[in-house]
Amino acid sequence: TIGMIAMDANGDLSGACTTSGMAFKLHGRVGDSPIIGAGLYVDNEIGAATSTGVGEEVIKIVGSHLVVELMRQGYPPEAACKEAVTRIVKRSPSKAKEIQVGFLALNKKGEVGAYCLQQGFSYAVLNNEKNNVLINGKSYF
Ligand code: ASP
Repeated sequence: TIGMIAMDANGDLSGACTTSGMAFKLHGRVGDSPIIGAGLYVDNEIGAATSTGVGEEVIKIVGSHLVVELMRQGYPPEAACKEAVTRIVKRSPSKAKEIQVGFLALNKKGEVGAYCLQQGFSYAVLNNEKNNVLINGKSYF
């Protein structure tokens, strides 16, 4: 999945996501990406979020909407993403190590965050000050 969330010069938020889906998926399978609230959610008052990984797990918690609602309650972006992943793990503790799910979030203040259980999760942040790639939360530029 490629999920993009953005803030423009006026502070307005937007988002988009696209995916090839899961490998060996059943014909007709619908993942999280095309479902608003699951793979992507934007609330221009609060923030935006997108997900990657096993869509079935994200759909069950309406993940991107959850991340935005947690930010509405005051969670910083990374903490909101982590809480959403934690909810997925709580639903299926025995599969916790196998389920690959990650979230990215941006709030109305322009703060960004992400969380994924697996190592190697990377994302890019571009803004006027600095363009950056983060892997496991560590900055590379
Ligand atoms: N989230 C996508 C899906 O379940 C898969 C992916 O992240 O590549 O369709």
